Amino acid sequence: MTGPAVDFSTLPLSPPTLANLRQLGYLQMTPIQAASLPAALAGADLIAQAKTGSGKTAAFALPLLARLDPRRFAVQALVLCPTRELADQVTAEIRRLARAEENIKVVTLCGGVALRGQLSSLAHGAHIVVGTPGRVLDHLERSSLQLDALSTLVLDEADRMLDMGFLDDIATVVRQCPKERQTLLFSATYPEGIAKLAAQFMKNPQQIAVAAQH
Ligand code: ADP
Ligand code: MG
Repeated sequence: MTGPAVDFSTLPLSPPTLANLRQLGYLQMTPIQAASLPAALAGADLIAQAKTGSGKTAAFALPLLARLDPRRFAVQALVLCPTRELADQVTAEIRRLARAEENIKVVTLCGGVALRGQLSSLAHGAHIVVGTPGRVLDHLERSSLQLDALSTLVLDEADRMLDMGFLDDIATVVRQCPKERQTLLFSATYPEGIAKLAAQFMKNPQQIAVAAQH
């Protein structure tokens, strides 16, 4: 029996993106990438579960980058993360993966960081926002962030966001996202709360899990 194809070149990605992946040393997809990228690139909502360090960031970053229009100066993707440290890591990985594209701006919005710099970055225009739910909500309430052009919403480390009590903040943020969007939920574990979250915010999500030994 053969598993899913593992070469990135089997995916509908642009030649510059494929060249960039090779340069980054991403020669083959990890199991969670192989299981989720074809459906995510086709626009499906996904609940993807795999342990830490399995390459989940690229599994949502490549699809959101593929849908993005760099010439449109509006926030087209939002990634919610539980902590500032994780948001910084996700931002760095998206920037590496976006190197091949023309000028894509990623802004990180986390609590514990002065608002001033965030307000100025947003005012200059961002294509992608990565942030923690509380601070993202703060910017929505100040109208320094608008989500009407959003096409991809990512809930990263959703299990940890639930543990940290972010459910209400997430719900308030999601209510400000367009209904017509792709929602990708990534998690290391699958507690009961995740199914409820998915039922509330997602459209016929496909569920993908990669066994722990991978
Ligand atoms: P997770 O979110 O599942 O914890 P990450 O997305 O942070 O995992 O990825 C873990 C590490 O693996 C990162 O250093 C990332 O650059 C690297 N990585 C991801 N995908 C690949 C790949 N296909 N080939 C090689 N390295 C990869
Ligand atoms: Mg991760």
